[in-house]
Amino acid sequence: MSDKMFAGVIIDQAHPALDKIFHYIVPDNLRDKIQLGMRVLVPFGIGNKTIEGYIMSLDKETQVPYNKLKSIKKLMDPFPLILPELIPLVWWMKKEYHCLTIEAIRCFIPPGLRRNITEKQEKVVFLKAENNILGKAALVEPRSKYMAEILRILDERDGIPLAELADIAGGAPLSSFKSLEKKGWISIEDQEVYRNPWDHFIPNSDLVEVELTQEQKNAIDIIRKGMSKSQGVFLLHGVTGSGKTEVYIHLVEKALKDNKRAIILVPEISLTPQTVGHFKDRFGEEVAILHSALSPGERFDEWRRIYNCQVNIVVGARSAIFAPVRDLGIIIIDEAHEDSYKSEASPRYHTTELAKQRSKEQGAVLVLGTATPSLEDFYNSEQNHYYRIPMDHRIDDKPLPQVEVVDMRMEIKKGNRSIFSQKLYDELRGILLRREQAIILLNRRGYAQFVSCRACGYVVKCDNCDISLTYHSKNNILKCHYCGDTKPYPNICPECKSPYIKHFGVGTQRVEQEIKKILPPARIVRMDMDTTSTKGAHQRILDAFRQKEYDILLGTQMVAKGLDFPDVTLVGVIAADTALNLPDYRSSEKTFQLITQVAGRAGRGQRKGKVIVQTYQPEHYSIQYASRHDYKGFYDEEITIRKQFNYPPFSHIIRILISGEDEKSVINTAIGIEKWMKHNITKDTIIKTGLLEIGAYPAPLERIKNKYRWHVLIRIRKDRIFLERYHEVVDQCQKEFLNNSNTIVVDFYPTSLL
Ligand code: ADP
Ligand code: ZN
Ligand code: ZN
Repeated sequence: MSDKMFAGVIIDQAHPALDKIFHYIVPDNLRDKIQLGMRVLVPFGIGNKTIEGYIMSLDKETQVPYNKLKSIKKLMDPFPLILPELIPLVWWMKKEYHCLTIEAIRCFIPPGLRRNITEKQEKVVFLKAENNILGKAALVEPRSKYMAEILRILDERDGIPLAELADIAGGAPLSSFKSLEKKGWISIEDQEVYRNPWDHFIPNSDLVEVELTQEQKNAIDIIRKGMSKSQGVFLLHGVTGSGKTEVYIHLVEKALKDNKRAIILVPEISLTPQTVGHFKDRFGEEVAILHSALSPGERFDEWRRIYNCQVNIVVGARSAIFAPVRDLGIIIIDEAHEDSYKSEASPRYHTTELAKQRSKEQGAVLVLGTATPSLEDFYNSEQNHYYRIPMDHRIDDKPLPQVEVVDMRMEIKKGNRSIFSQKLYDELRGILLRREQAIILLNRRGYAQFVSCRACGYVVKCDNCDISLTYHSKNNILKCHYCGDTKPYPNICPECKSPYIKHFGVGTQRVEQEIKKILPPARIVRMDMDTTSTKGAHQRILDAFRQKEYDILLGTQMVAKGLDFPDVTLVGVIAADTALNLPDYRSSEKTFQLITQVAGRAGRGQRKGKVIVQTYQPEHYSIQYASRHDYKGFYDEEITIRKQFNYPPFSHIIRILISGEDEKSVINTAIGIEKWMKHNITKDTIIKTGLLEIGAYPAPLERIKNKYRWHVLIRIRKDRIFLERYHEVVDQCQKEFLNNSNTIVVDFYPTSLL
């Protein structure tokens, strides 16, 4: 028995009851081929149905009685789909994100493979006869012009795809090729082709080596030191336009010199074509791009190029953190504060956390680059968990744009009911006259959710929680989503008695119409969910704007990110404060980030930039600090509030979201979970000490797609011990409610509580 081999397999079926290791015998003929991370076929269940699974362990012995064991049937691929060195990450994810093991595994599997997409084959024509090709061509000429032509072309360039060759030969029919093949003069072979997602990409030819600034040099030096020690998390805190991309490029060059590889993550490829372009310009064929807009086939091809070490650099959005990169030297997360780094489907991972774990396991460094770090990241750097590297100056010491805050309450007093303040209108006119460009951001986050007074800016808030109440149109009341308190919809403002109090919100189309009305000659392009639903739409809009086919780019949050247009000298923010009133402890942070980021789009070229921020709450500290480009000031004020109210990073919020079609059942489940948790928390002193607050509430978005939503929010003290124990209790709770008819989702790192 001692020379037997057993495999622990996770079955490819997403069901909680099957979420455990099943043991199989490795038959002798597979013993020297089988590896950890491989996909296999195994017989399963009473009927021995054949299903797919993944090898998670290989052992010399097993606890399972031998006569109960079945054998592995087949290896599906000649190599492991999950790099064996990444298997610990699977287990880590399962524990950390309360997902099924197979859900974690699927993150690593090339997209499309489970739907059976494989390499694309193409017929390619080669010359076989070596001598006197042209003589042979002349020989066949009288009978077939096509055959002669094919030979002549091949004599100049051998190995041409059949379809292409037929084309160049003036539409040669397949029969001509067949005849030549029969004569033994040519061969037609199946060859794998690589679907190049960058077919249309034109590399920047005037690539100039720039002289690095002192700040850039400093950043590179510090991070390089970390790279030679194979460890470290660095927070690259550089203002907009400080040249972070150039720093990334130098770090990647260094990694390549060390024979290591790199992963660069961007919030969303379609929104950051410039960053991606820089990498493509500099590293060309060495870069693989993982892009959600690629076809599954293209993605599979990129995955294989990475797996086979044909490329050394991977650029992609969130899921590229799972790319099969060996000898990883560095992971870079650009615009690390972005919400898109949080997965909202199971496994609900945050990319930063995952990247931290992966870099630790592979001996790589992690770089978080941003002008507006999340409170957590900056706090971590204050606590010396991350090494913070500031870059406080724009390239060439260009000034940050001047930001002017416009108090919209005054506009109403002056009788201006338009969406645009007089100031923003004047500036827009100036742009048209000077033939410059403007970006207008309409902040739609929190649209029509809160109730505020247009005359004085008062926002209806909860008396217990200092968080704005949410408007519920169904029964016309205002509700607190932290404590459940309600208030009636006010007819007049409790503060100034004005009747202009109501729920608030306008759309981009409204804004577009209004611009057309007040500035008829302006050429506007709109970028929002409606106009960007088709493939490549982002790129087309941004290209057209760059070509100056438009004067004004109007859009939602999408226009705030990473864009670098030299002729944009004006940025206007409409309704800067909408996010401030969301029932979310992070709303101030989000608002500060958004205004700072969009302001950073102005004045990046030769001319100075200006930013107009319209708001009903000009005195709010998020807006005030953003207008002064003062991250540290904002951080200090916000962190004090977080500490006072025990919000993250001083506590940990666990969210259990329950959703289902039957409202009563959803409510009962939520209350049931709350009760179960409370009961089990009191049983254990450590767990009890860790608890700050627990409660079941309707989610702010109470109904999505006809499903009712409630959540149980648990706030616990910040400490690894408590966190570990809560992982355990929540795990038990999940098992307890396994057969519940509603969907129950556990999120240990919720970035949004909506
Ligand atoms: P950030 O990402 O920090 O906002 P970017 O990386 O977009 O800034 O850089 C801003 C601009 O400055 C880009 O156009 C970039 O090409 C240019 N740039 C970067 N580094 C240098 C340098 N050392 N000298 C001159 N120009 C630079
Ligand atoms: Zn009022
Ligand atoms: Zn409340």
